[in-house]
Amino acid sequence: MLKNRTALVTGSTSGIGLGIAEALARQGANIILNGLGPADEIEELRKRISQEWGVAVRYNGADIAKPNAIEAMIDKAVAEFGVVDILVNNAGIQHVAPIEEFPVEKWDAIIAINLSASFHTIRLALPGMKRRRWGRVINIASAHALVASPFKSAYVAAKHGIAGLTKTVALEAAESGITVNAICPGYVLTPLVEKQIPDTAKARGITIEQVVNDVLLAAQPTKQFVTVAQVASLAAYLASDEAASITGAILPIDGGWTAH
Ligand code: NAD
Repeated sequence: MLKNRTALVTGSTSGIGLGIAEALARQGANIILNGLGPADEIEELRKRISQEWGVAVRYNGADIAKPNAIEAMIDKAVAEFGVVDILVNNAGIQHVAPIEEFPVEKWDAIIAINLSASFHTIRLALPGMKRRRWGRVINIASAHALVASPFKSAYVAAKHGIAGLTKTVALEAAESGITVNAICPGYVLTPLVEKQIPDTAKARGITIEQVVNDVLLAAQPTKQFVTVAQVASLAAYLASDEAASITGAILPIDGGWTAH
């Protein structure tokens, strides 16, 4: 159980992050939601999770591309809850294009959101975890932290970077009761993936059906999408006391993709 723990999950208004926030709330953790989206829908989510699991749920709309906004979000969390015990770096974006055509601003945004934001949340949340001698950092990386696909230069570079960041901080925090791990999902059918299907079709000159069957699921020997619930329950396990000896691990949950 995670009662009296506080979890900040970046990018938890949608997809995998929302599933992880719900799984941690189910274990009794207070939750700080973060992410973009319509205010009324986010307020509905906030209320629903709080009522369903009897935990405090707050929302912070920080744009994590901005270090100042991250700093203000962590300060606010610490002022209200004392510490961020569980930090889940999940927010991420994607852009699919050949490198010669890759828009420079998309490169900068992907590196800021998918990589640098985790540097900032970790450096700001770690002192509180160290004070309490307990902490969990869970970075949602990707199978693309381990292998590459064409046309995803920024995303693959950022996710490989997250793997390095995870291992480095795990070593630095190992004697402080803090674990730092990366979860590497294969394809999960969330808005992030749904949006990239037409772009991948265009970049490769193939149909939408061919993208799903010959590009996405072709990578996964199980021929099944990974589900949000499967990723969320792995995150909840990593947050538990039982997972205290798992640190610095880069954990694939990818239907066998990276076994190739
Ligand atoms: P999603 O698009 O459903 O959710 C992304 C979340 O990030 C949303 O809540 C969005 O509002 C938030 N976000 C985006 N930009 C932000 C910003 N600037 N500031 C704050 N929040 C921001 O995507 P998802 O598929 O759930 O992806 C979540 C994570 O899982 C990402 O890091 C992604 O790279 C990773 N991942 C996804 C898959 C997949 O197949 N879906 C596979 C491997 C890894």
